[in-house]
Amino acid sequence: MPCSISANCKPAGRPPSILKGNAALVKQCEHPDCILWFYHRTKAHKRPWCSMALCGNRHKAAQFRKRSGG
Ligand SMILES: [Zn+2]
Repeated sequence: MPCSISANCKPAGRPPSILKGNAALVKQCEHPDCILWFYHRTKAHKRPWCSMALCGNRHKAAQFRKRSGG
């Protein structure tokens, strides 16, 4: 029986469940050295990094080095 008329046939190219309505919450990490993507779980949706402990701290350290001139 052809796919188009079978009620039990599921479409092949089904998008991952993460794209179901919440695609806007999937962000790429803003750290220039990081290629990770992450999913916003906080209410504020303001965290620009995949991990505050990792990229957040790296970013802060870089800013501090810039400010202190060395
Ligand atoms: Zn990152």
